[in-house]
This record gives sequence, structure tokens and C-alpha cells, in this order.
Amino acid sequence: MTVPYKHEPFTNFTLEHEAEAFREALAYVETQLGQEYPLIIGGRRVVTEEKVVSTNPANKQQVVGVVSKATKALADEAMSAALSAFETWKRVSPQARADVLLRAAAILRRRKHEFSAWLVKEVGKPWKEADADTAEAIDFLEYYARQMISLSEGVPVLSRPGETNRFFYVPLGVGLIISPFNFPLAIMAGTTVAAIVTGNTVILRPSDRAPIVAAKFVELMEEAGLPEGVLNYLPGGEAEVGEYIVEHPQTRFISFTGSRAVGCRIYERAAIVQPGQKWLKRVIAEMGGKDAIIVDKDADLELAAQSIVASAFGFSGQKCSACSRAIVLEDVYDEVLARVVELTKQLKVGNPKEQSTFMGPVIDKVSYDKIMGYIEVGKQEGKLMTGGKGDDSQGFFIEPTIFADVSPTARIMQEEIFGPVVAFTKVKTFDEALEVANNTDYGLTGAVISNNRGHLEKAREQFHVGNLYFNRGCTGAIVGYHPFGGFNMSGTDSKAGGPDYLLLHMQAKTVSEMF
Ligand code: GLU
Repeated sequence: MTVPYKHEPFTNFTLEHEAEAFREALAYVETQLGQEYPLIIGGRRVVTEEKVVSTNPANKQQVVGVVSKATKALADEAMSAALSAFETWKRVSPQARADVLLRAAAILRRRKHEFSAWLVKEVGKPWKEADADTAEAIDFLEYYARQMISLSEGVPVLSRPGETNRFFYVPLGVGLIISPFNFPLAIMAGTTVAAIVTGNTVILRPSDRAPIVAAKFVELMEEAGLPEGVLNYLPGGEAEVGEYIVEHPQTRFISFTGSRAVGCRIYERAAIVQPGQKWLKRVIAEMGGKDAIIVDKDADLELAAQSIVASAFGFSGQKCSACSRAIVLEDVYDEVLARVVELTKQLKVGNPKEQSTFMGPVIDKVSYDKIMGYIEVGKQEGKLMTGGKGDDSQGFFIEPTIFADVSPTARIMQEEIFGPVVAFTKVKTFDEALEVANNTDYGLTGAVISNNRGHLEKAREQFHVGNLYFNRGCTGAIVGYHPFGGFNMSGTDSKAGGPDYLLLHMQAKTVSEMF
């Protein structure tokens, strides 16, 4: 019997030996930078002429690694490899498939700091954020392995005399996994292994902004015993290659995490039945958020301020769960705002390789420009309280930025910025706070800081988000404890790290036998 699931603890970096081990991992990864990574198709290494270069967002000159660029012809090869592997992989017992994940989790645990160090280099995660990303990847492996074992028993259904009915789940086919830069290990690994453990085979297209961490993970899965062709690594840029696989008649499902615009586009393209296609494609999409923290007048105001700061500025606000709206009751508005500004001014922004850094850079020039553009919009729509400046000479650094007195309908209160920017708005009543909170196209996370039980219960019912938190921040969902995913334009209502997530990658079969 496998021991029960328990989430991976975070590393305590105040212990000198842990900090030292992390510094050693960073030094080791430094020696590994700049290497080339081939595509992996049916276990075969494929090197192409054209490349994507992954650089360190804190230090633009530093090349983290170089990957080959996929083409449509190679996408066809990956599809063939995945289709042929599907014929054998779907027959491997669920327990054996789960064991591959459990072994992968064990290897990842042994190499935890090394993977986190890659995250520091490739996407600019500060130590704690990198450590949490790696821990979450371990959690997905451990959690989905166990979920698969329990699902493989099927679900009891009724039978009449003389009849035996069985109900169980079978895999779908070849899935396309498109993963984001912001959790380049956890979400990439989680979405990939959920598809694999359920008996499907996949083509993985990691973000172009973080293909190296994904390459390392694919190697790890091979080491853990995953057969060739089950996981095909096909990074490399061109949106048209991704779109080609989305539209491919043999693609059975698409698991996407990323922006709303791309998610909507995939949903639309996947809906079109192509010549020779025998099914309706399934799309699992996890898109954006415009997440709010409500602060009630009867509340622990220090907790409120700490929660807003951590949720708004952790990993430079580059989380779809990030708090980008603070909705505060007028009675306590000035006090909460002043404290959040004070705490924010104390945050250390800098190179994430330093242990003391709270906030590193944003991911690249495109993001930098977009966020700086929103900061200009914010200056028109509210009062700049702190931050507002950027510096992209070395890396893509933006100060943690707070705007006050912003209207609930302002652009910076409506549009996802995906950067270290939070807007404050003042409300008169708790009902108004809920109304403002719900007034977006999204519905991913939200939090309420309140001592008022009646208000919390009202929020439980009326605050329309997939992940609602009381008296804590709105980021940092833990696999198996806080199944994660949102409503409305935040996606297809799926819950990563939850008890029904794997079912999205399978279909149920009923077999009825008469005796
Ligand atoms: N699961 C993460 C959290 O709870 C956010 C994931 C994302 O940003 O895509 O903070």
C-alpha cells in the first residue's frame, strides 16, 4: 500500500544548511547553463536548424539554454509517435502507470534544489517561490498517482437480478499540453502527468519562455521509466505549430494553461471538426484572473495588509491567482492602504539568486512593456501611492506598484495585468464589496478578511470564484487541499489538484452483461 498523500513541505531557508544546499544547487546550475536541448519524439532526439534561446529575465545576457524549434512536419511525427505509444500505454495497468509518477516524485524530491535553481535562472523566481513550484510539482505527481489507483477500481453502479453492470474509465487518446511560464515546473508537470497517468499519450508544448525546465522534467520522466512516445517534447515557438496540433484530426484533447486570448482561440479552433476526425475534442483551459481581496471593517487589519502584499507581489504578480484588486470598507480604507504601502516599500526587489530578494524581474520585454503600459493607464485612473518605475537595462525589473482610489470599472480594475500592480477601491458596505468583487469577466480566486461570520457566510454563497479564501491571501493553493481553478473567463471550470481532475482526461464506459 502506498502511504497516504501529504503535501511536500516547503524548505526552511532560515536553517543555514538548507540555505547552503540551495546556494550549492545554484552554483551547480550555473555550470550547466547554455546547453542545447533537442526535441524528443518517440524517444528520439531531434535537433533542428532554428532555435529558441531561453535567457535569464534578471540578467538578459545570460543564456539558460537553447532548444530546437518544432515544425509542422515534426508535429506530424510527434503525433504518430504518440498514437503508436497510446496502443500499448493504455493497456499498462493503472498501478504501473501510477508507479512511474511515484518514482518521478522520488527523483524530483532528491533533486529538489537543483530544479528550483533552474526556476530561479529561467523565470526569475525568488528562492521561496521556486521552492514552492518544485514542491507543487512533487505534489501533483504524488496526488495524481493515488487518484489514478483509486479511480481504477471504477465506481459501483446498480445491477438487476440476472444482470451485472460495470462502470469504469478508459483513456481518451493523444493530448496536447500547452503550459505557461509562470509555473513552468508545477503546472507543466501537473497537466502532463494527469494526462499520462490516465493512460493517454501527449505532445508537450511548454512555454517558449521556460522550455529548459520542461526539458529537464522530460528527462526525469524517462529516468522514472516512462516508455518512449508517451511524452513527446515539442517546444519551439511558432504559434502556427501549436495551432496545427490543436486542429489536427487525431488530437483528442487539449490541456491549456495561459492567457484568456489564447485559451479562447484554442477553444474555438478545437471545436471545428476536421476531415477524418472521429470525435469532438475536449478542451481543458485554465486562463486568467482579476482576483480581489475584500477587507471588512471588522477585521484583522495587519493580516489584511500582509495578505494583500504577499498575494499582489509574490513572483511579481505573475500568477493568475494574484491579488490585483483590494476592495476595502471605507471605515478602514486609509489605515489598510497606509500599511500596505509601508510594507511594500520594505520589499526587496532584485536578482532572485540572492536569498534576501522578495521580488525578482518579470518574465521578458513583452511583459515588461505591457505592465509599464498599464502603470501609465493606472496613473490616469488612480493615485500612485508607491512604485511605478521600471528598469530593463539588466533584467526586466518593475517596482511593486500601488494605485489608490480607483473606480471599480477602471481598466486596471478589469483587465489582467500579470505584473506587480494592485489597485485599491473604497466601498461603503460589505454588499457593495461583493458586488465590486464579482464585477469582472473572471472568477478565479478571491479572499475576504473579516471577523464577521455573517459576512463570511454571505461571501461563501455570493463571491463567485473557484477558489475563495477566508482570512488569508488569495494565492498559494496546495494540491489535494485547495483544488484550483476558476469560473467564467478563468477557464473551463476544471480543478487542478482536485478529486475530479483526472476524469477530465478519461471517458466512462458501461458494460452490462446478462447471465
Ligand atoms: N495555483 C497557483 C496559486 O494558487 C496559481 C496558478 C497560476 O497562476 O496559474 O497561486
